[in-house]
Amino acid sequence: MVMDVNQKNDRGTWFHGASTVCSVVPAAVESPYRFVLLGAPGVGKGTQALLLSQRLGACHLSTGDVFRAAGARAECEHTPAMKEAFAYMRRGSLVPDATVWGIVRERSACLHCRGGFILDGFPRTLDQAISLKGFMETENLGLNAVVNYELPVDEIVARLSGRRVCRDCKAVFHVTGQPPTTEGQCDRCGGALYQREDDLPESIAVRLDAYQRATAPLIEFYAELKLLTSVAATGSPEAICERTMAALETRGRLTVI
Ligand code: AMP
Repeated sequence: MVMDVNQKNDRGTWFHGASTVCSVVPAAVESPYRFVLLGAPGVGKGTQALLLSQRLGACHLSTGDVFRAAGARAECEHTPAMKEAFAYMRRGSLVPDATVWGIVRERSACLHCRGGFILDGFPRTLDQAISLKGFMETENLGLNAVVNYELPVDEIVARLSGRRVCRDCKAVFHVTGQPPTTEGQCDRCGGALYQREDDLPESIAVRLDAYQRATAPLIEFYAELKLLTSVAATGSPEAICERTMAALETRGRLTVI
C-alpha cells in the first residue's frame, strides 16, 4: 500500500510551530525512517523528499517551506528574526544559523515523530549539522542515512530557472522538463503556479556560491560519520527515486508501506 503522508497530513507542527497539531498523527512504525537530503539547490531534493515520503511514510520537512509559509502570513505576524530571514532569502543568501536552529528546535516534535522524517534543506552549514547531531544524540534518536544528490552545475541552473511551484499545494513543475497540462496551473490541485523569487538568475548565482562555501563541506562531515550515500540526480524524478531506494536498501532493510 502506498501512503502519501504529505497529502493526508497538513504537517501543521512543521509549518506553523509547536503550538499547532498535525491533522494526521502518523501511524507508529517499528523503526521510523529518519533521513537528511543533501545537494545543491535545484538538484530536486524537494521532489525526491515527496516521492520518498509516499513510499516510506516519513514526513517531508523543508526549512525553506517553513520560511515561505511564514512569508505568506500577514506581515504583523512576522517576528523581527523572521523579517531578517526573508531579506536573506530574497537575496538567495543563507539565513543565519541561530535563526534556522531556533526554528527547527521549536519544531523538535517533528524530529521525535513516530512517523519519522525526511529533512530537505536542513542542515545547510556545519554549525547546523553539529546542532542537529547534538540534539539527536541527547534525545537518543538515530539518523538512517544522508542522501547526497549529485548533478552538474549547468543542469542545476537549467532546473532552477525553469522551476515553477504551486502556491497552494507546493507541487513542483518545470517549464520544459515537467510542464503542467495547462500553463500556469497545478495538475494536482488547480492552484496557480509561480516562479520563486530566489529562482531568478541573480539569486541563483548567490545560492550556488553559498552551497559551495557552506553546504558542500557537509558531504565530508556525513561521510566520516558513515551516513553518506551519493545518488546521481539525472533522469526523471521516478528514476532518481528508484536509484535512491536502491541505494538506501543496500544500507539496510527498507519497508515500503
Ligand atoms: P530552499 O527551499 O531549501 O532552497 O530554501 C530557500 C531559502 O531559504 C534558502 O535560499 C535560504 O535563504 C533559506 N533557507 C532554507 N533553509 C535554510 C537553512 N537550513 N539554512 C539557511 N538558510 C536556509
